[in-house]
Amino acid sequence: MMPDIKANIDAVRKEITRMCKHVGVEENQPRLIAVSKVQPIERVRAALDAGHRVFGENRVQEAEERWGELKPEYEGVELHLIGSLQTNKAANAVALFDVIQSVDRVKLAKALAREMDKQDRHLPVYLQVNTGREEQKGGAMVEDLEGLLKDCRDLGLNVVGLMCIPPAGDDPTLHFGLLKKFAKRLGLEKLSMGMSGDYALAAAMGATDIRVGTAIFGARDYS
Ligand SMILES: *Cc1c(COP(=O)(O)O)cnc(C)c1O
Repeated sequence: MMPDIKANIDAVRKEITRMCKHVGVEENQPRLIAVSKVQPIERVRAALDAGHRVFGENRVQEAEERWGELKPEYEGVELHLIGSLQTNKAANAVALFDVIQSVDRVKLAKALAREMDKQDRHLPVYLQVNTGREEQKGGAMVEDLEGLLKDCRDLGLNVVGLMCIPPAGDDPTLHFGLLKKFAKRLGLEKLSMGMSGDYALAAAMGATDIRVGTAIFGARDYS
C-alpha cells in the first residue's frame, strides 16, 4: 500500500518544529532531506507533487537512473549525496548532485575538486565523520578531520559542515554531541545528523540538516 507521503512529511516537519520550540531555537529550523534511496519512483513523485524538493540518495548510479528523469521535470530540486563515493564516480556525482555530504578522504577530495573545476559546478560539501570508529563505515576519524579540512580548502572545495551516521544500537546523543563539538572547533556551520529513529533528538541538538527516509516513504524493500 502506498503510504500517505504528504501526511508523513507534514508529521515529520511538525515534530521537528515541536522539538525546536521545546529547546528554544524556533528560527533556523533544520532542512528536511527526504531520503529516497531504494524507494519506488511513485513514492518519490508523491513527495515532489506534495511540493517537497530536497532529497538524499546514497548511490550515484541509482540516483542517476531516477533523477535523470525527475530532476528536469520538477523545478527547484536539490539533491544531496549522502552515501560513500568512489573516486571513479566523482564526475557523475558532480554532474547530478547539488550537495556532497560524504567527503572523507583526500583522494576523493582531489577527484571532486578536479571535476568541479572541469564542470564549473562548485558544490558545497560536508565532511563525513566516523564518530563511532566503525571499520566498515565511511567517514574520517576525528583526529584526521582538521588535516582533511585544510587539504579540502587548499584544493578549493567549499566545505560547509559535518555529517555523521551513528552506529546502530548506540545512543545517538554521544555522536551528535561529538559532531557538534568538532563543527564548532573547526568553525563549520552545517550539521547533518538525525534519521527516522532519532531526528527529533538531532533537531533538539542543533542539526541544520536532517535525513529522513523510512518515516516519510515507508520501509525500504530490498528484495
Ligand atoms: C538511508 C539513510 C538515511 C535515512 O534512513 P532512515 O532510517 O530510513 O530515515 C539517512 N542517512 C543516510 C546516510 C542514509 O544512508
